[in-house]
Amino acid sequence: MPDHDVAIVGAGPVGLLAACLLAQAEIDVAVYERRVDDDDRSKAIGIHPPGFAALDAVGVGDEVEDEALALDGGDVLWDGRVLASLSFSAQQRVLVLPQRRTHALLMQRLRQLPSARLLTGHEVRHVRNEEGMVHLELDTAGAPPRHATAFFVVAADGVRSGIRRRLGIGWRRRYGNGSYAMVDIAHERDDARVQLHCESAGLVESFPLPHGQRRWVAAETQGALGEADAFVDAIRERTGRQLELPAGLSPTVFRAQQHHAARLSAGRVVLLGDAAHEVSPIGGQGMNLGWAAALELAAALERSLTGARPEFREYERRVQHAVARAQRRSAFYMTVGHATKGPALAVRNGAIRLLGTAPLRRGTTNMITMQGGAAPFSVRRR
Ligand SMILES: Cc1cc2nc3c(=O)[nH]c(=O)nc-3n(C[C@H](O)[C@H](O)[C@H](O)COP(=O)(O)OP(=O)(O)OC[C@H]3O[C@@H](n4cnc5c(N)ncnc54)[C@H](O)[C@@H]3O)c2cc1C
Repeated sequence: MPDHDVAIVGAGPVGLLAACLLAQAEIDVAVYERRVDDDDRSKAIGIHPPGFAALDAVGVGDEVEDEALALDGGDVLWDGRVLASLSFSAQQRVLVLPQRRTHALLMQRLRQLPSARLLTGHEVRHVRNEEGMVHLELDTAGAPPRHATAFFVVAADGVRSGIRRRLGIGWRRRYGNGSYAMVDIAHERDDARVQLHCESAGLVESFPLPHGQRRWVAAETQGALGEADAFVDAIRERTGRQLELPAGLSPTVFRAQQHHAARLSAGRVVLLGDAAHEVSPIGGQGMNLGWAAALELAAALERSLTGARPEFREYERRVQHAVARAQRRSAFYMTVGHATKGPALAVRNGAIRLLGTAPLRRGTTNMITMQGGAAPFSVRRR
C-alpha cells in the first residue's frame, strides 16, 4: 500500500484548498512544501464569486467575509473623465483580502483536519509513475533524501513547476505580455471602488484594500517604475494624484504573461493552479481559477480513488476550456490598458463607453466578476 491516498506538491493557496477538500472527504492527504517560512509577497487580492464558493466549501467563508472588504464597483477613467461606471450586485460581489491572509486561513483550516498532514521543509525533487502508485523523491534540507508513495500526486508547485518540467509537459505561451509596478499604501477617506485609469501614457489601477490601504499598479510603458520617485511621478503625470510613499518603500515590479500546460496529467500525476496555467494578474483571475479547478479536481480524485485508476479526462477538458476563456479576458484587459493615442484612442474610449451602457453593463460586470457566462465552470450536478 502507498503511504498516502493523495500527495500534493506545494502549499500555495491552491494546493492548500485542494488538500482541505480532500481531507474533508476523509481522504488521506499529505502536502509537501519546500518553504519553512511564510510567503509574505504581496500578490492576489481579489476574491471573485467562484473563488469565494471554493473557500466557503472548505469552511473559511465566514472568516474571509469578516476580514475582507467588499467592493461596491468600479470606474474606468481617461483624462479625468469617467468613461464607464459599474456597480456589483450581491451575486457579483467581489471581496478584497491580501493573499497572505487567505493563505493563513487555509493553513489554519488544514491543520484542523485529521486526515491531512502538512510537511514543510520538504522539497519534492521528482515524481515517478509506477505500477498503481506514484513514487516521490524528497529533499529535506540537509537530511538524507527520503521517499514517499501515493496513489495520486497533485502538482500545485506554482508557475515555475519543476514537476511539470520533469514530466516533459509543454508550457505554451498565449497572448498577453506586460510589465507593471505596484505598491500597497495607506489611504485616507477611502471608498470601496476600483479606479482604472486608461490613460494615453499607460494604465494605472487603484484598488481599495482592507484597513484603509490601497493598491496602486502602473504599467511600465515608458521606462522602469521600480524606483519610488519614478513611480510617484508616473502616477501624478497620468492621473494628477500625488502619492506619499513611506520612506524606504520600493514598488514591486512584476511581469504579466500567459501560459498554459499542454496537458494536465501524466499517468497518476495531475497539475493544478499556476502549475497548470499562468493568467495575467491584470484582471485578477489566476488564483480564483485555481480554486474553482480544485473543486473539479477533488471530485475527479474521489472517482479515481474509487475506480483505482486515473479519471482526469473530464477535469482536463473543463479546466483547459476555462483557462482559455480566462486568458482571453485578461488579454482583453491588458489591451484596453495599453498606451494609446490618436484615432485608436477614440475607438478604444468609445468601446469602453459602450461596455458601460445599460444594455451591456450586466454582461460587462459578469465578465469582470467571473459570473454568468464568464464563470470558470458551468454549474452541473454531481
Ligand atoms: C502581483 C500579482 C497579483 C495577483 N493578483 C491576483 C488576484 O487579485 N486574483 C487572483 O485570482 N490571482 C491573482 N494573482 C495570481 C495568484 O497570485 C496565483 O494564481 C496564485 O498564487 C497561485 O497559487 P498556487 O497555489 O497555484 O501557486 P503558488 O502560490 O506559486 O504556490 C506554489 C507553492 O509550491 C511550493 N513549491 C514549489 N516547488 C516545490 C517543490 N518541488 N516541492 C515542494 N514545494 C514546492 C512553493 O514554495 C509554493 O509555496 C496575482 C499574481 C501576482 C504576481
